[in-house]
Amino acid sequence: MTLDRLGRELHDLRISITDRCNFRCAFCMPDGEDYQFFHREEILSFEEIKHFVKALIPLGVRKVRLTGGEPLLRRNVERLVSMLGELPLQDLSLTTNGFLLKEKAKSLKSAGLRRVTVSLHSLKDEVLSKLVGREVSVSHILEGIEEALRVGLTPVKVNVCVIRGVNDGEIVDMAHLFKRMGVVVRFIEFMDVGNLNRWSLEKVFSVKEMLRVLSEHFRLEPVAKSYRGEVAERYRHVDCGVEVGFIASVTQPFCGDCNRLRLTADGRLLTCLFAQEGHDVKSLIRSGAGEEEIRDFVRHLWQVREDRYSERRLELLKEGTLPKKMEMFKIGG
Ligand code: SAM
Ligand code: SF4
Ligand code: SF4
Repeated sequence: MTLDRLGRELHDLRISITDRCNFRCAFCMPDGEDYQFFHREEILSFEEIKHFVKALIPLGVRKVRLTGGEPLLRRNVERLVSMLGELPLQDLSLTTNGFLLKEKAKSLKSAGLRRVTVSLHSLKDEVLSKLVGREVSVSHILEGIEEALRVGLTPVKVNVCVIRGVNDGEIVDMAHLFKRMGVVVRFIEFMDVGNLNRWSLEKVFSVKEMLRVLSEHFRLEPVAKSYRGEVAERYRHVDCGVEVGFIASVTQPFCGDCNRLRLTADGRLLTCLFAQEGHDVKSLIRSGAGEEEIRDFVRHLWQVREDRYSERRLELLKEGTLPKKMEMFKIGG
């Protein structure tokens, strides 16, 4: 078990495998900016990623999630899945915007992916298209979710980034739909990740407000956390048991339990989602470092970390000292 200075365990690894995306979500990668993407040679190869993950298992890493940008845009992502599937992990999952899921679900399942989380932020074509910066139909994403259910990438979860005045009026309809489909929907407070998404506290529709609205329509009961560091507050519908989750990263920060490490596609390690630039681990990997050397590097990083950005956000806002942060599409959530 590897603990940081505040006693938090290293357990969970998120790997962004590309910074490219076929969407331009307003809350992540607003359209019209001049984005600089990584060049091919800057990006870690599948062999390098596997070497890194394998090295971290003795430190406590048990769960790996692939993300991006849009991870399904990385060529041969199935090959990476099957390579990571050879490691003794408890969980191997992927977060996607769902656009390519219908065609890829089956091959991902065959490669050994356990489950997927699909991001879907509206049930109205017009709102969704505006939010993600391109024409897209809700039914196309829902077909991807149905295919994931059909091939057994379960439990399928759906992430909804809730923004006041944009989609907060849809949470009841979404809870109805996903209850019927047997899919766990997770409502996430709009976060101030990166520097470009015009975040403000006024746009945050809090989990408290979400629960108030939903409790007028559904009977929900709390579900105990399944492990320390689980970020979602879990509830279930009393009548059918389907779960609904809430992630209150802004209004009820959970830094005290944060057990997640993040690796960017170009090989930088972040001990916090709100980090400024991360730590270069690619040079180490490319210098031929063995597993022990990589472990020492990560163990040290983890042991000295003191991150608790979300707990300090309001104080920093008040002082006007919010730092410049890495963009969400480079990190992967
Ligand atoms: N492209 C994939 C997707 O959208 O699912 C994976 C990467 S995306 C950065 C990971 C998650 O972060 C998605 O569920 C997305 O909705 C969420 N996200 C992005 N920007 C956010 C923000 N500002 N606040 C809350 N969640 C956000
Ligand atoms: Fe949207 Fe995900 Fe792409 Fe960001 S990375 S723009 S959240 S689809
Ligand atoms: Fe972890 Fe940083 Fe989020 Fe706090 S703000 S929960 S330390 S990622």
